[in-house]
Amino acid sequence: MNECVFCKIVDGEVPSKRVYEDGLCFAFFDKSPLAPTHFLVIPKKHLACAADITEADAMTVGHIYAVIAMLSRVLGFADNYRVVTNCGAKAGQTVQHLHFHVLAGKDFGSFN
Ligand code: 5GP
Ligand code: ZN
Repeated sequence: MNECVFCKIVDGEVPSKRVYEDGLCFAFFDKSPLAPTHFLVIPKKHLACAADITEADAMTVGHIYAVIAMLSRVLGFADNYRVVTNCGAKAGQTVQHLHFHVLAGKDFGSFN
């Protein structure tokens, strides 16, 4: 039995505020937003973290970045946004299903 909360969100077993969905990926607003706009984009296929990405997933990961770019234009933040992927507990990963945070609507400054 799959206990992954993000797989359950994809399946509709756990409710979410959906931003976008297609055959490869699902986007939904983060329940604890860290910016005025904060949503997550996940592959529908379960991968635990970025370190599990292989060449077989290259199309999906590239597609996710294209979806993020499309959403940034549609939602009006194409000029200023940040994409973050945490991999491993010490990097801040709390959900073991690969996800791309999309943050926008504020001045992030330089990355440090
Ligand atoms: P991480 O810390 O793993 O990089 O990010 C996990 C993110 O998932 C956190 O920002 C957290 O707020 C969000 N999150 C965890 N569980 C849920 C949930 O059930 N629904 C939604 N919408 N977001 C969640
Ligand atoms: Zn999962």
